[in-house]
Amino acid sequence: MPDLQDADLLRHRPFFSGQWQAGDAPPLAIHNPANGALVGEVETLGAQRVEIAVAAAEAAFSAWRDLPARDRAVLLEKWAALIAEHADDLARIMTQEEGKPLAEAKGEIAGGAAFVKWYAEEARRVYGEIIPSFAGDRRLLVFREPVGVCAAITPWNFPSSMITRKAAPALAAGCPVVLKPAESTPFSALALAELARRAGFPSGVFNVVLGNPAEIGRVFTAHPAVRKLSFTGSTRVGKLLLAQAAGQVQKVTLELGGNAPFIVFDDADLDAAIAGAVAAKFRNAGQVCVAVNRIYVQEKLFGAFVARYAEQIAALKVGDGADPQTQVGPVISARVLERLEGLVQDALHKGAELVTGGHVYPLRGETGGHFFEPTLIARPAPDARLLHEEIFGPLVTVQSFRDEADVIRQANATEYGLASYFYTRDLKRAFTVSGRLQYGMVAVNTPVIASESSPFGGIKASGLGREGSRHGIEDYLEYKTVWLAGL
Ligand code: ADP
Repeated sequence: MPDLQDADLLRHRPFFSGQWQAGDAPPLAIHNPANGALVGEVETLGAQRVEIAVAAAEAAFSAWRDLPARDRAVLLEKWAALIAEHADDLARIMTQEEGKPLAEAKGEIAGGAAFVKWYAEEARRVYGEIIPSFAGDRRLLVFREPVGVCAAITPWNFPSSMITRKAAPALAAGCPVVLKPAESTPFSALALAELARRAGFPSGVFNVVLGNPAEIGRVFTAHPAVRKLSFTGSTRVGKLLLAQAAGQVQKVTLELGGNAPFIVFDDADLDAAIAGAVAAKFRNAGQVCVAVNRIYVQEKLFGAFVARYAEQIAALKVGDGADPQTQVGPVISARVLERLEGLVQDALHKGAELVTGGHVYPLRGETGGHFFEPTLIARPAPDARLLHEEIFGPLVTVQSFRDEADVIRQANATEYGLASYFYTRDLKRAFTVSGRLQYGMVAVNTPVIASESSPFGGIKASGLGREGSRHGIEDYLEYKTVWLAGL
């Protein structure tokens, strides 16, 4: 780990009951995906200690719920300010454990702080309702109340902002949080816990547990105090947790996989579409749930698009995210390299054309890092696996299409429904195609699809619920109806 300005941000233990806690299960070693170096070890908890962490959150609930919203907001504001103040250190920690280029890591930290600030503001706007009564002696009131203890399980690809987008609305609503971050990126989560501690959240309000994922998932879904589970990760694990949560009818928010189409119509601004397709694919080495998997270019522009896009992809600088020149960092593990190689082989075997890339980067042998060449595959067969599976790496497909109906049919032919993108200069088409794409989010003429002020989430196998915006706090609230009679 390079020198941090504030070395106390690097923590090695779980955090609950307002304290750093010694582990009682085997420790976890975290390696830098760019070079295999040991970043550090963290202590972990067995199931019984995780239950104690949940009990600590339960004990904190009533005081946290009863704190006036403006006081909760002040703490969230402080947390956001501390995250922003320590952005450089937080980004360095993230690049070491996750691999993404430092500039992207800083962007993620700023985005995460923006979520915390947004929900500090939203905390004060949890309004109830007064419903017109059918009788003169009655009043009908609707209150919004926090659901209770919220469990959160987050992935490694956005080790910080996936936490803040869950924790901030939960805390704003009055819910204590017990978080389990991904095994490969605990340090970003623990640094956020350290800053929450400094911000002054009461003991038990924000907790981080580390340990065996399946074991912790079982505690989260079986413990009666946990009233809500928020998960971001694979569709496979999301389905498993949804089934487990049925046991006690927990509220569940799921942000799962995607298989994003990116459509370029004949009337598009080609330069903007190419730049957009680079950004929407190669951020975080393609390990993003909204990353483009399938590019469709209308016939007239197909040749020009492929030639120029391939040129830009081949010029991307791949390397250690800590190097300021790097545009594409490593993928998270050797397993991902094998999966990507398998997807390429399958597509080529079925007749696709390799336009650029396609191989594990030679850097791997020299440094022990996990690098894959930015790769473009043209005209895959309809049954090529990479049209149907989430790619989650620096690999993308391109094919041509004839007309609007044809491309919409192909774009929607997937079990997923998270993000979609298209480029056109035709205003009518912008609305009709947006309406027909079966996705939770549609980006027209831009690769940017997420911000704290917009609802983020998917339909179909991509998930349940939305994060961000004023709607993101809804999942952490219940309605309570109060009838007042005899007035
Ligand atoms: P990915 O393939 O991107 O790592 P996962 O869905 O496996 O996605 O991981 C996302 C999060 O889910 C991580 O925090 C991981 O530890 C956690 N996880 C994995 N398996 C389980 C499980 N059986 N129960 C609960 N959480 C799990």
